[in-house]
Amino acid sequence: MCPGCGVNLPNQNLAPSDQYHASGECLQIYHELSAIFIMNPDLNFRTQHAVDAYGAQHSGSKVKNIRTAFSLIGLYLAVERKYTGRQVQQAHMELAQKNLKWSSFIEPTRPYTLTVADVLGTAEEKRNDMLMAWSKHVWEIWEDYHEWTRNICKSNLKYV
Ligand SMILES: [Zn+2]
Repeated sequence: MCPGCGVNLPNQNLAPSDQYHASGECLQIYHELSAIFIMNPDLNFRTQHAVDAYGAQHSGSKVKNIRTAFSLIGLYLAVERKYTGRQVQQAHMELAQKNLKWSSFIEPTRPYTLTVADVLGTAEEKRNDMLMAWSKHVWEIWEDYHEWTRNICKSNLKYV
């Protein structure tokens, strides 16, 4: 069972991720999904939503605070402000230039019901819908940080 998202996958004795709070098996699914997005590039850069949903869902342990912060900000902009992945990427670049200091996060305790495996397991024609459902779900589970995220965006991004 993945310590981040809780997905149960057959044990392949893969080493856990050293960047994410994730099992090696879960990380492999994420890499497969990323590879599909890279092989089928789109103008909206949808892979950014996967980066953010996966990042927030696999926070904690040795994950850097900035990764969690940027993931939550990306999810907020995508889910509540309807930003495309490309626009989220631009917002991240704008924030990165400010060199803000990020304190640590308390991960939510409510279990997740959607994971990267659901997105990979969805047929291509419906995969974008599942990608956004996953992003929305992860954003909802992090409800204790909604105000925090909105405030960070309001004070630091020009177009919010
Ligand atoms: Zn996982």
